[in-house]
Amino acid sequence: MTTRPSKNNPTGITNYEIPSALAALPEWQDLAQAMNRCALAGGDLGVTQTQWIDAVRNLASGISFMDCCPECDRGDLDIVDGEYVDTSAAPAVTEVTDRWVRGRYVCRNGHTWRCGYSLTSPLYF
Ligand SMILES: [Zn+2]
Repeated sequence: MTTRPSKNNPTGITNYEIPSALAALPEWQDLAQAMNRCALAGGDLGVTQTQWIDAVRNLASGISFMDCCPECDRGDLDIVDGEYVDTSAAPAVTEVTDRWVRGRYVCRNGHTWRCGYSLTSPLYF
């Protein structure tokens, strides 16, 4: 069930129960803390509560279609002894047609690229 944010319920929160095994994961708490930092930063940029919730919902679906930044990956090849840098990013924009998702990606360094995947190829569960 989805509840949109409203004047009386600004976050749009509903009755929910996260599976306890998931909620107990340190990664889950890391995610919550990262989301809180991102929500605060987005708020500073004028992102509304509705936009935030929509973006997070889309990210949760798009996370299965992460792709590595081709420009940052090339840079990493030059640093043989350097620390590994994960250049993967979730799609920022998607277009789903037939059995494909085509994404436009933006990495943390602002590079953009496009990539497509079969809808059924990346499964995380
Ligand atoms: Zn990049």
